[in-house]
Amino acid sequence: MKIPYGKQNISNGDIEAVVAVLKSDYLTQGPGVAKFEAEICKKVKSRNAITTNSATSALHIACLAIGVKIKDIVWTSPISFVASANCAIYCGAEVDFVDIDTNTGLMSMSKLRVKLLKAHKDKKLPKVVIPVHLAGTCCDMEELKRLSNIYGFKIIEDASHAIGGKYKDSIIGSCKYSDMCVFSLHPVKIITAGEGGILTTNLDGNAEKARLLRSHGIEKRPDKFKLERDGEWKYEQQILGYNYRMTDIHAALGNSQLSRLESFVERRNKIYEKYWEKTMKMPLRLLEIPEGVYSSVHLVIIRLETIDSNYHKKVFSKLREKGIGVQLHYSPIHLQPYYRDKGFKEGDFIESEVYGKNALSLPVYPDLKEEEQEYIINTLNNIL
Ligand SMILES: *Cc1c(COP(=O)(O)O)cnc(C)c1O
Repeated sequence: MKIPYGKQNISNGDIEAVVAVLKSDYLTQGPGVAKFEAEICKKVKSRNAITTNSATSALHIACLAIGVKIKDIVWTSPISFVASANCAIYCGAEVDFVDIDTNTGLMSMSKLRVKLLKAHKDKKLPKVVIPVHLAGTCCDMEELKRLSNIYGFKIIEDASHAIGGKYKDSIIGSCKYSDMCVFSLHPVKIITAGEGGILTTNLDGNAEKARLLRSHGIEKRPDKFKLERDGEWKYEQQILGYNYRMTDIHAALGNSQLSRLESFVERRNKIYEKYWEKTMKMPLRLLEIPEGVYSSVHLVIIRLETIDSNYHKKVFSKLREKGIGVQLHYSPIHLQPYYRDKGFKEGDFIESEVYGKNALSLPVYPDLKEEEQEYIINTLNNIL
Protein backbone atom coordinates (compact mmCIF):
# COMPACT_ATOMS: atom_id res chain seq x y z
CA MET A 1 0.00 0.00 0.00
CA LYS A 2 1.18 3.54 -0.79
CA ILE A 3 -0.83 6.39 0.69
CA PRO A 4 0.37 10.00 0.30
CA TYR A 5 -0.48 12.61 2.97
CA GLY A 6 -2.39 14.69 0.44
CA LYS A 7 -3.55 14.36 -3.13
CA GLN A 8 -5.54 16.38 -5.66
CA ASN A 9 -8.85 15.23 -7.10
CA ILE A 10 -9.10 15.84 -10.86
CA SER A 11 -12.46 15.33 -12.60
CA ASN A 12 -13.31 15.03 -16.28
CA GLY A 13 -14.86 18.46 -15.96
CA ASP A 14 -11.49 19.86 -14.80
CA ILE A 15 -9.76 18.31 -17.80
CA GLU A 16 -12.36 19.63 -20.23
CA ALA A 17 -12.09 23.12 -18.74
CA VAL A 18 -8.32 23.16 -19.25
CA VAL A 19 -8.54 21.74 -22.78
CA ALA A 20 -11.13 24.39 -23.69
CA VAL A 21 -8.61 27.11 -22.79
CA LEU A 22 -5.88 25.39 -24.81
CA LYS A 23 -8.19 25.49 -27.83
CA SER A 24 -9.13 29.13 -27.29
CA ASP A 25 -7.39 32.38 -28.33
CA TYR A 26 -5.90 33.23 -24.93
CA LEU A 27 -3.67 31.06 -22.78
CA THR A 28 -2.97 34.01 -20.49
CA GLN A 29 -4.42 37.49 -19.90
CA GLY A 30 -7.69 36.31 -21.43
CA PRO A 31 -11.17 36.26 -19.88
CA GLY A 32 -10.59 33.18 -17.67
CA VAL A 33 -8.77 34.94 -14.86
CA ALA A 34 -11.40 37.65 -14.38
CA LYS A 35 -14.11 34.99 -14.43
CA PHE A 36 -12.33 32.94 -11.75
CA GLU A 37 -11.80 36.05 -9.63
CA ALA A 38 -15.51 36.93 -9.85
CA GLU A 39 -16.44 33.40 -8.73
CA ILE A 40 -14.05 33.61 -5.77
CA CYS A 41 -15.63 36.92 -4.69
CA LYS A 42 -19.06 35.29 -4.79
CA LYS A 43 -17.90 32.20 -2.93
CA VAL A 44 -16.05 33.88 -0.06
CA LYS A 45 -18.05 37.15 -0.07
CA SER A 46 -15.18 39.57 -0.61
CA ARG A 47 -15.24 42.77 -2.65
CA ASN A 48 -12.04 41.90 -4.52
CA ALA A 49 -10.10 38.80 -5.49
CA ILE A 50 -6.71 38.94 -7.20
CA THR A 51 -5.25 35.70 -8.52
CA THR A 52 -1.49 35.12 -8.67
CA ASN A 53 0.92 32.37 -9.74
CA SER A 54 1.35 31.23 -6.12
CA ALA A 55 0.30 32.03 -2.58
CA THR A 56 3.89 33.08 -1.94
CA SER A 57 3.53 35.81 -4.59
CA ALA A 58 0.15 36.77 -3.15
CA LEU A 59 1.67 37.13 0.34
CA HIS A 60 4.48 39.25 -1.10
CA ILE A 61 2.18 41.69 -2.91
CA ALA A 62 -0.20 41.74 0.05
CA CYS A 63 2.67 42.99 2.22
CA LEU A 64 3.65 45.56 -0.41
CA ALA A 65 0.06 46.73 -0.95
CA ILE A 66 -0.29 47.29 2.79
CA GLY A 67 2.93 49.31 2.71
CA VAL A 68 5.49 47.00 4.35
CA LYS A 69 8.94 48.40 3.71
CA ILE A 70 12.52 48.39 4.95
CA LYS A 71 12.85 48.25 8.76
CA ASP A 72 9.14 47.59 9.33
CA ILE A 73 8.34 44.73 11.67
CA VAL A 74 6.11 41.79 10.74
CA TRP A 75 5.03 38.99 13.08
CA THR A 76 3.81 35.53 12.20
CA SER A 77 3.68 32.01 13.63
CA PRO A 78 6.79 29.77 13.77
CA ILE A 79 4.61 26.78 12.88
CA SER A 80 3.92 27.49 9.24
CA PHE A 81 5.43 27.13 5.81
CA VAL A 82 8.45 29.43 5.42
CA ALA A 83 6.60 31.65 2.93
CA SER A 84 4.54 33.15 5.80
CA ALA A 85 7.73 34.80 7.05
CA ASN A 86 9.70 35.18 3.82
CA CYS A 87 7.08 37.50 2.30
CA ALA A 88 8.03 40.18 4.81
CA ILE A 89 11.76 39.67 4.26
CA TYR A 90 11.19 40.25 0.51
CA CYS A 91 10.02 43.76 1.47
CA GLY A 92 13.09 44.40 3.61
CA ALA A 93 11.13 44.06 6.84
CA GLU A 94 12.24 42.37 10.04
CA VAL A 95 10.39 39.21 10.98
CA ASP A 96 9.57 38.06 14.47
CA PHE A 97 7.32 35.28 15.72
CA VAL A 98 4.54 34.70 18.23
CA ASP A 99 4.54 31.26 19.82
CA ILE A 100 1.65 28.83 19.35
CA ASP A 101 -1.16 27.51 21.50
CA THR A 102 -0.39 23.86 22.28
CA ASN A 103 -3.91 22.55 21.74
CA THR A 104 -4.61 24.14 18.37
CA GLY A 105 -1.13 24.77 16.95
CA LEU A 106 -2.35 28.29 16.08
CA MET A 107 -0.81 31.62 17.10
CA SER A 108 -1.48 32.05 20.82
CA MET A 109 -3.50 35.18 21.56
CA SER A 110 -2.33 35.29 25.18
CA LYS A 111 1.30 35.20 24.04
CA LEU A 112 0.49 37.83 21.43
CA ARG A 113 -0.99 40.13 24.10
CA VAL A 114 2.13 39.83 26.25
CA LYS A 115 4.44 40.41 23.29
CA LEU A 116 2.45 43.47 22.14
CA LEU A 117 2.61 45.05 25.60
CA LYS A 118 6.37 44.71 25.61
CA ALA A 119 6.74 45.86 22.00
CA HIS A 120 4.63 48.91 22.81
CA LYS A 121 6.99 49.83 25.67
CA ASP A 122 10.04 49.24 23.48
CA LYS A 123 8.48 51.16 20.57
CA LYS A 124 8.91 48.12 18.34
CA LEU A 125 5.30 47.34 17.43
CA PRO A 126 4.67 45.30 14.28
CA LYS A 127 3.20 46.95 11.20
CA VAL A 128 1.55 43.69 10.16
CA VAL A 129 0.63 40.45 11.91
CA ILE A 130 0.18 37.38 9.69
CA PRO A 131 -1.94 34.74 11.44
CA VAL A 132 -1.72 31.28 9.86
CA HIS A 133 -4.84 29.12 9.73
CA LEU A 134 -2.85 25.92 10.27
CA ALA A 135 -4.54 22.77 8.97
CA GLY A 136 -7.45 24.90 7.73
CA THR A 137 -8.50 25.92 11.25
CA CYS A 138 -9.07 29.64 11.65
CA CYS A 139 -7.19 31.59 14.35
CA ASP A 140 -9.02 33.63 17.01
CA MET A 141 -9.69 36.49 14.59
CA GLU A 142 -12.08 38.41 16.84
CA GLU A 143 -9.36 38.80 19.47
CA LEU A 144 -6.71 39.54 16.84
CA LYS A 145 -8.90 42.27 15.34
CA ARG A 146 -9.50 43.75 18.78
CA LEU A 147 -5.74 43.88 19.40
CA SER A 148 -5.12 45.40 15.98
CA ASN A 149 -7.51 48.23 16.84
CA ILE A 150 -5.58 48.90 20.04
CA TYR A 151 -2.04 48.63 18.68
CA GLY A 152 -2.62 49.74 15.10
CA PHE A 153 -1.18 46.81 13.18
CA LYS A 154 -2.68 45.44 9.96
CA ILE A 155 -3.73 41.83 9.45
CA ILE A 156 -2.93 39.57 6.48
CA GLU A 157 -4.43 36.10 6.93
CA ASP A 158 -2.28 33.30 5.59
CA ALA A 159 -5.26 31.12 4.76
CA SER A 160 -3.26 28.94 2.37
CA HIS A 161 -4.84 25.90 4.07
CA ALA A 162 -8.25 27.31 4.74
CA ILE A 163 -10.36 27.93 1.63
CA GLY A 164 -13.82 26.53 2.31
CA GLY A 165 -13.54 27.13 6.05
CA LYS A 166 -15.65 29.37 8.27
CA TYR A 167 -15.10 31.42 11.40
CA LYS A 168 -18.16 32.27 13.52
CA ASP A 169 -20.49 34.22 11.24
CA SER A 170 -17.98 34.70 8.42
CA ILE A 171 -16.46 32.81 5.52
CA ILE A 172 -12.66 32.65 5.39
CA GLY A 173 -11.64 35.12 2.70
CA SER A 174 -14.43 37.59 3.44
CA CYS A 175 -11.89 39.63 5.45
CA LYS A 176 -14.42 40.53 8.13
CA TYR A 177 -11.57 40.52 10.69
CA SER A 178 -8.58 41.32 8.47
CA ASP A 179 -7.21 43.62 5.80
CA MET A 180 -6.29 40.93 3.32
CA CYS A 181 -6.45 37.15 3.03
CA VAL A 182 -4.37 34.70 0.97
CA PHE A 183 -5.23 31.21 -0.33
CA SER A 184 -2.90 28.69 -2.00
CA LEU A 185 -3.89 26.55 -4.98
CA HIS A 186 -0.90 24.19 -4.82
CA PRO A 187 -2.01 20.58 -5.54
CA VAL A 188 -1.82 19.45 -1.89
CA LYS A 189 -4.16 22.24 -0.76
CA ILE A 190 -7.97 22.11 -0.71
CA ILE A 191 -8.51 23.04 -4.36
CA THR A 192 -5.80 23.42 -6.96
CA ALA A 193 -4.86 25.32 -10.10
CA GLY A 194 -1.60 23.38 -10.53
CA GLU A 195 0.16 26.31 -8.90
CA GLY A 196 -1.60 29.47 -7.88
CA GLY A 197 -2.66 31.89 -5.19
CA ILE A 198 -5.59 34.17 -4.43
CA LEU A 199 -5.59 37.43 -2.53
CA THR A 200 -8.92 38.74 -1.25
CA THR A 201 -9.67 42.12 0.31
CA ASN A 202 -12.52 44.56 0.83
CA LEU A 203 -10.12 47.51 0.60
CA ASP A 204 -10.37 48.71 -2.98
CA GLY A 205 -7.17 50.75 -2.79
CA ASN A 206 -5.15 47.76 -1.65
CA ALA A 207 -6.72 45.64 -4.38
CA GLU A 208 -5.82 48.21 -7.02
CA LYS A 209 -2.23 48.31 -5.79
CA ALA A 210 -1.98 44.52 -5.68
CA ARG A 211 -3.23 44.28 -9.27
CA LEU A 212 -0.52 46.70 -10.42
CA LEU A 213 2.15 44.82 -8.45
CA ARG A 214 1.06 41.52 -9.98
CA SER A 215 1.87 42.72 -13.48
CA HIS A 216 5.08 44.81 -13.55
CA GLY A 217 3.40 47.87 -12.03
CA ILE A 218 1.91 48.46 -15.46
CA GLU A 219 -1.35 50.39 -15.85
CA LYS A 220 -3.28 49.85 -19.09
CA ARG A 221 -6.42 51.85 -18.39
CA PRO A 222 -6.02 55.29 -20.04
CA ASP A 223 -8.17 57.04 -17.44
CA LYS A 224 -5.63 56.01 -14.78
CA PHE A 225 -2.57 57.28 -16.65
CA LYS A 226 -0.31 59.82 -14.99
CA LEU A 227 1.07 61.18 -18.25
CA GLU A 228 -0.87 62.24 -21.28
CA ARG A 229 -1.79 59.40 -23.58
CA ASP A 230 0.11 59.63 -26.87
CA GLY A 231 -1.51 56.88 -28.92
CA GLU A 232 -3.40 53.61 -28.91
CA TRP A 233 -0.20 51.76 -27.99
CA LYS A 234 0.53 53.37 -24.70
CA TYR A 235 0.76 51.80 -21.29
CA GLU A 236 2.46 53.15 -18.18
CA GLN A 237 4.72 51.57 -15.62
CA GLN A 238 3.78 53.46 -12.49
CA ILE A 239 5.47 51.44 -9.73
CA LEU A 240 7.94 48.55 -9.54
CA GLY A 241 5.97 45.34 -9.93
CA TYR A 242 6.49 41.71 -10.85
CA ASN A 243 5.16 39.08 -13.19
CA TYR A 244 3.05 37.18 -10.67
CA ARG A 245 0.09 36.57 -12.99
CA MET A 246 -2.00 33.42 -13.11
CA THR A 247 -2.53 31.99 -16.61
CA ASP A 248 -5.98 31.27 -18.06
CA ILE A 249 -5.06 27.58 -18.09
CA HIS A 250 -4.54 27.58 -14.34
CA ALA A 251 -7.59 29.76 -13.75
CA ALA A 252 -9.80 27.32 -15.68
CA LEU A 253 -8.63 24.44 -13.49
CA GLY A 254 -9.08 26.49 -10.32
CA ASN A 255 -12.55 27.61 -11.34
CA SER A 256 -13.63 24.10 -12.21
CA GLN A 257 -12.34 22.84 -8.85
CA LEU A 258 -14.10 25.65 -7.00
CA SER A 259 -17.49 24.13 -7.80
CA ARG A 260 -16.53 21.07 -5.72
CA LEU A 261 -15.10 23.04 -2.77
CA GLU A 262 -17.95 22.26 -0.37
CA SER A 263 -17.94 18.53 -1.09
CA PHE A 264 -14.14 18.36 -0.67
CA VAL A 265 -14.32 20.11 2.69
CA GLU A 266 -17.24 17.95 3.89
CA ARG A 267 -15.33 14.80 3.04
CA ARG A 268 -12.22 16.10 4.81
CA ASN A 269 -14.28 16.82 7.93
CA LYS A 270 -15.69 13.29 7.84
CA ILE A 271 -12.16 11.88 7.70
CA TYR A 272 -11.11 14.11 10.60
CA GLU A 273 -14.06 12.92 12.69
CA LYS A 274 -13.19 9.29 12.07
CA TYR A 275 -9.56 9.86 13.04
CA TRP A 276 -10.79 11.63 16.17
CA GLU A 277 -13.07 8.75 17.21
CA LYS A 278 -10.64 5.96 16.41
CA THR A 279 -7.55 7.48 18.01
CA MET A 280 -9.28 8.53 21.23
CA LYS A 281 -7.67 5.73 23.24
CA MET A 282 -4.22 6.02 21.69
CA PRO A 283 -1.35 7.94 23.36
CA LEU A 284 -1.77 10.99 21.14
CA ARG A 285 -3.93 14.09 20.65
CA LEU A 286 -5.34 15.57 17.47
CA LEU A 287 -4.98 19.31 17.04
CA GLU A 288 -8.23 20.79 18.29
CA ILE A 289 -10.72 22.73 16.21
CA PRO A 290 -12.11 25.50 18.48
CA GLU A 291 -15.83 26.06 18.87
CA GLY A 292 -17.27 28.35 16.22
CA VAL A 293 -14.69 27.27 13.64
CA TYR A 294 -15.54 25.14 10.62
CA SER A 295 -12.13 23.88 9.52
CA SER A 296 -11.37 23.01 5.92
CA VAL A 297 -9.24 20.17 7.41
CA HIS A 298 -6.32 20.65 5.05
CA LEU A 299 -4.29 18.54 7.48
CA VAL A 300 -5.01 16.11 10.28
CA ILE A 301 -2.18 16.69 12.74
CA ILE A 302 -1.54 14.48 15.76
CA ARG A 303 0.71 15.25 18.70
CA LEU A 304 2.47 12.29 20.29
CA GLU A 305 2.34 12.31 24.07
CA THR A 306 6.12 12.40 24.46
CA ILE A 307 8.69 15.07 23.61
CA ASP A 308 11.30 12.53 22.62
CA SER A 309 12.60 13.38 19.16
CA ASN A 310 14.04 9.89 18.70
CA TYR A 311 10.65 8.33 19.37
CA HIS A 312 9.10 10.90 17.00
CA LYS A 313 11.52 9.92 14.26
CA LYS A 314 10.89 6.23 14.89
CA VAL A 315 7.09 6.54 14.62
CA PHE A 316 7.61 8.59 11.51
CA SER A 317 9.84 6.09 9.72
CA LYS A 318 7.75 3.09 10.79
CA LEU A 319 4.65 4.66 9.25
CA ARG A 320 6.63 5.47 6.12
CA GLU A 321 7.87 1.88 5.95
CA LYS A 322 4.24 0.76 5.95
CA GLY A 323 3.53 2.99 2.95
CA ILE A 324 1.82 5.77 4.90
CA GLY A 325 3.05 9.14 3.69
CA VAL A 326 3.19 11.05 6.96
CA GLN A 327 4.75 14.51 7.10
CA LEU A 328 5.78 17.14 9.62
CA HIS A 329 3.88 20.40 9.14
CA TYR A 330 6.01 22.17 10.21
CA SER A 331 9.48 22.30 11.60
CA PRO A 332 9.60 25.73 13.34
CA ILE A 333 10.59 28.47 10.88
CA HIS A 334 12.85 30.25 13.36
CA LEU A 335 15.12 27.20 13.54
CA GLN A 336 15.69 27.01 9.78
CA PRO A 337 19.34 27.81 8.98
CA TYR A 338 18.35 31.04 7.20
CA TYR A 339 16.51 32.32 10.29
CA ARG A 340 19.20 31.08 12.70
CA ASP A 341 21.58 33.27 10.71
CA LYS A 342 19.32 36.20 11.64
CA GLY A 343 19.84 35.41 15.33
CA PHE A 344 16.95 33.11 16.20
CA LYS A 345 17.88 30.13 18.32
CA GLU A 346 16.57 27.15 20.23
CA GLY A 347 14.58 28.23 23.26
CA ASP A 348 13.07 31.29 21.56
CA PHE A 349 9.61 29.74 21.04
CA ILE A 350 9.27 26.73 23.31
CA GLU A 351 5.77 25.54 22.40
CA SER A 352 6.65 25.57 18.72
CA GLU A 353 9.85 23.66 19.38
CA VAL A 354 8.00 21.00 21.34
CA TYR A 355 5.52 20.81 18.49
CA GLY A 356 8.38 20.19 16.06
CA LYS A 357 9.36 17.18 18.18
CA ASN A 358 5.99 15.46 18.44
CA ALA A 359 3.67 16.57 15.63
CA LEU A 360 2.84 14.45 12.63
CA SER A 361 0.35 14.84 9.75
CA LEU A 362 -1.78 11.86 8.77
CA PRO A 363 -3.09 11.37 5.22
CA VAL A 364 -6.26 13.31 4.41
CA TYR A 365 -7.71 14.03 0.97
CA PRO A 366 -11.14 13.57 -0.63
CA ASP A 367 -10.27 10.31 -2.40
CA LEU A 368 -8.82 8.61 0.68
CA LYS A 369 -10.72 5.31 0.86
CA GLU A 370 -12.42 3.98 3.99
CA GLU A 371 -10.21 0.90 4.03
CA GLU A 372 -7.09 3.03 3.59
CA GLN A 373 -8.05 5.11 6.61
CA GLU A 374 -8.73 1.89 8.58
CA TYR A 375 -5.29 0.67 7.58
CA ILE A 376 -3.67 3.92 8.72
CA ILE A 377 -5.48 3.82 12.06
CA ASN A 378 -4.62 0.17 12.71
CA THR A 379 -0.99 0.64 11.71
CA LEU A 380 -0.70 3.67 13.97
CA ASN A 381 -2.26 1.76 16.84
CA ASN A 382 0.20 -1.12 16.41
CA ILE A 383 3.21 1.20 16.30
CA LEU A 384 2.21 3.24 19.34
C1 LIG B 1 1.46 26.25 0.79
C2 LIG B 1 1.64 27.39 1.70
C3 LIG B 1 2.13 28.64 1.29
C4 LIG B 1 2.68 28.88 -0.06
O1 LIG B 1 1.81 28.51 -1.07
P1 LIG B 1 2.33 28.41 -2.57
O2 LIG B 1 1.04 28.51 -3.35
O3 LIG B 1 2.98 27.08 -2.70
O4 LIG B 1 3.25 29.53 -2.82
C5 LIG B 1 2.17 29.67 2.21
N1 LIG B 1 1.78 29.49 3.48
C6 LIG B 1 1.32 28.31 3.92
C7 LIG B 1 0.87 28.19 5.34
C8 LIG B 1 1.26 27.22 3.05
O5 LIG B 1 0.86 26.03 3.50
